Amino acid sequence: MMPHHHLLTNYREISPQQIRAANSDFFNGIGVGDMSIELPLNSCNTQITLKNVLHCPNLHTTLLSVAKIDNAGYACRFSNGKCRIYDNRDKLLGIAPCINGLYQLVNKINTAYSSSTPLLSLYDAHIRLGHVNYIYIKHLLKDPDVQGFKLDPSKMEEIQCETCLKAKLSCQPIAHSHSSPLATNFGDLVHMDLWGPAKTHTVNHNYYMLSLLDDATYWLEEILLKSKDQAYHAYRQHQAALKTMEGTIIKTLHSDHGGEFLGTEFTNYLKELGTHHKLTTHDTPQHNGQVEHTHHTLFDGIHTVLNGSGLPQWLWGYALEYMVYVWNCTPKKAIGMKTPFEMRYKSKPNLSNIHRFGALVYYAKRKDNKLVPCGRPGFWIGLEPESNGHYIYSTNSCTITVECDIVFSTCEFSRLEGESEMTWDMEPVSIDTDNTKSPYNATPENSDHDDIDTPIPSDNNVISEPLDPLIMSGKRIRKPTQKLRDIANNIATANLAHEIAYSATISETTSESIAFDPRTVAEAMRSLDWPKWEEAMYDELKCLKS
Ligand SMILES: [Zn+2]
Repeated sequence: MMPHHHLLTNYREISPQQIRAANSDFFNGIGVGDMSIELPLNSCNTQITLKNVLHCPNLHTTLLSVAKIDNAGYACRFSNGKCRIYDNRDKLLGIAPCINGLYQLVNKINTAYSSSTPLLSLYDAHIRLGHVNYIYIKHLLKDPDVQGFKLDPSKMEEIQCETCLKAKLSCQPIAHSHSSPLATNFGDLVHMDLWGPAKTHTVNHNYYMLSLLDDATYWLEEILLKSKDQAYHAYRQHQAALKTMEGTIIKTLHSDHGGEFLGTEFTNYLKELGTHHKLTTHDTPQHNGQVEHTHHTLFDGIHTVLNGSGLPQWLWGYALEYMVYVWNCTPKKAIGMKTPFEMRYKSKPNLSNIHRFGALVYYAKRKDNKLVPCGRPGFWIGLEPESNGHYIYSTNSCTITVECDIVFSTCEFSRLEGESEMTWDMEPVSIDTDNTKSPYNATPENSDHDDIDTPIPSDNNVISEPLDPLIMSGKRIRKPTQKLRDIANNIATANLAHEIAYSATISETTSESIAFDPRTVAEAMRSLDWPKWEEAMYDELKCLKS
């Protein structure tokens, strides 16, 4: 089974076949074709053709079925951390090493293809553009002046996106109203709001975000803050940059009565600039609806891309930056289906810098002698705005780095069961016990986090992964995964041992150690200490049974 139709030859469509995944999700197989792969064998490779490979667009990775290999007259033998594949004459064809608990092969064809193709299916464009609605994507990409990638006219099927379905179930929409006419020029009217505190801080210990939405262009800025009282300085810096770069001074600033916006310093600063501060009246909070609607759209997107990628929730700051970038480059109904980018800069956006959040990449790290290149796997989590480099999250070294020399791969880690069960706590902490209150329209008045020690990264290019505060405080609520339950019932052992994931992982054979405990079975399986975790799980289950 594989997700990419373009790597199959002799392709033919079939009536949809429903397949049940290990985590009880369903996905459809919609076509069949042949696929050529290389099995690694010592210093050379064996080229083989897989027949009748099922095309499943919603699958995250390519999977080889051991049962199908057996049915075709081939054999798999597992020993000493390797899976050896033999033909019907017992000739060794290839060896798949067990890396972090999975038997893995590398698909070189995928990597080469992905770096050169400018055509995307409608579904792939939907994933790449932060799960934006198909209607907006079609509208955006029919414009010949929009650069970056195009839609493949033969792949315009509006596939039901499972990730979006799940996100919509957990995010309740709020009504969007824009009762007054839009402002005319960029900077004429800016809507401002402060959101937070989040339950989980970002990598840099930010809990709040200051939202600035331009009324005329719908251009959005989101500035992450550690505490509410940073709002004044953040706004001041933003205004200074606007004035220096474009000569723009915001004419009217619209906000609610948040105390962070009404301090003497803030008020005097606005007066000096000649900026009119328009306040939302207490009995008409809907007048701040544009910003609230924006928050809703952003959080919906952050929720979706984090869940879709399987990456940890404390990366939400990066997901936010990514979604703001997508927001500014995609059409908005309120401005006549134009993009905020073209409204502000009078030219069409270039989408070539937008990639799928959490996409698997390889980045170059040179060894000591500087002659031997070493490609390392990581996950793409956005663009670094200053250098236009790429933020890469490495699960092996537990770091986020800015890289320039990267290659995107369409081979992906399969997201194993358990990863999607991580709790998502984007809603702000509230001292109000009323759980029905919308997280999007509240600015709780509980204490700030000024006393939190904020670590300064020792290297500007490397940000260490923090421990999840929910784990540290023991608040994470997790139930046993199906895999654990299967192990308890002695039915999963064979599957665990025989899973071959066709994913592009290059083993990190360095001494880099995982600095935190894995939170899911999948993470444990990828860790170098998997045998110990497995042993511990069996011990735990034995205790539970006795
Ligand atoms: Zn989607």
